[in-house]
Amino acid sequence: MKKEEEENSELDFERISVLYANTNVGYFGIAAGVLFFGYMIHELAAPNIAYLWMLIVGITYIPRVMLSIFFAKKIQSREITHHNVKPWESYFFLNSIIPFLCFSSAVFIPFGENEFTALLFYTVIVMALISGSILSYSTSLKVTLLFINVTMLPLIAITFWIQESLFNALGLVLIIAYGLLTSLIPRQNKLLIENIALRIENGHQSLTDPLTKLGNRRRLYLLIENLVPSSLRRKDPFSIVILDIDHFKKFNDKNGHSAGDDLLIKVSNILVECSRDQDLAVRYGGEEFLLVLPSTSLEKATILVERIQDSIKESTPITFRAGIATHNDKMNFEQLLEKADQCLYAAKTSGRNRFVLADTD
Ligand code: GH3
Ligand code: MG
Ligand code: MG
Repeated sequence: MKKEEEENSELDFERISVLYANTNVGYFGIAAGVLFFGYMIHELAAPNIAYLWMLIVGITYIPRVMLSIFFAKKIQSREITHHNVKPWESYFFLNSIIPFLCFSSAVFIPFGENEFTALLFYTVIVMALISGSILSYSTSLKVTLLFINVTMLPLIAITFWIQESLFNALGLVLIIAYGLLTSLIPRQNKLLIENIALRIENGHQSLTDPLTKLGNRRRLYLLIENLVPSSLRRKDPFSIVILDIDHFKKFNDKNGHSAGDDLLIKVSNILVECSRDQDLAVRYGGEEFLLVLPSTSLEKATILVERIQDSIKESTPITFRAGIATHNDKMNFEQLLEKADQCLYAAKTSGRNRFVLADTD
């Protein structure tokens, strides 16, 4: 996946997760609105109409409530990820149309002589729900605008349909409110999305080494937190490789610090190219690197290190040494690191430009 697409999919993931998380609170708001206006219909029109309207609105909300439950479950089981989250915004949008329309059908109920009182109460409820919707649907512009349009436009239409000055005055106030909301909300939404994007970017920076763009130690420990228990549970061991560039100080002294920096970048790129998507390459120290290789035996890790050796030999003037170790249920991550580090030390004392394997127990 291209970097830009990756960033967009992360942004969508953040946005859509917030949309679903907020709406769980929003259901209480809409329930209160339906009960309150249901009571108004009961008092100002007829009890049967009130029950029918509340029943219809309640039933039409069921698919969206189910959708919210599905989403929460699939997020928890990690079935929804950055790569497949996008359609869930459309599902939410599509499942909102009918309940919103049914809610706003309240303006067409015949209230007779109580029409103005009823519409005034309805306006108060709608405006309160709109403030809630601006907050809860804030990360999805199209859902926010859907709610505002579906609730306000029929209300405005009916206030002008009835040709009486009080109704028209109410309609005028609503038109002004509608104009303000529809022009300000997209701007606020843009700011919010930019803010989320910045937060994601900051998160990346705090986990990335600025020179080589490899992961840093924070990134390493985030991965390890999940990897150790899951590899033990699945009895699927992972391996690690610590690499250290031989005589890097000499390279710097001879070629200059900036050529040294370029070399570190080159080596880092080789590490990433040689490893798989699920592997993590970390800048572990100045000229030391750590590879974490999920679902990888000592043998497979060795094959990878040989590939790195070939690639480095081909495109750089330096050599490196490495210590390779595989995790088992008798050790924690610190002990695994220590084992690999001892191998790295053994590779140094036995003459550099080589790798040493840890024993498997
Ligand atoms: P050995 O073979 O024993 O590993 O020797 P070495 O010179 O590679 O190791 P040593 O630990 O003595 O020196 C590490 C060198 O790495 C010294 C330091 O200037 C250089 N170094 C560390 N970080 C950077 C960096 O970000 N950029 C550059 N250009 N050099 C760096
Ligand atoms: Mg070193
Ligand atoms: Mg070194």
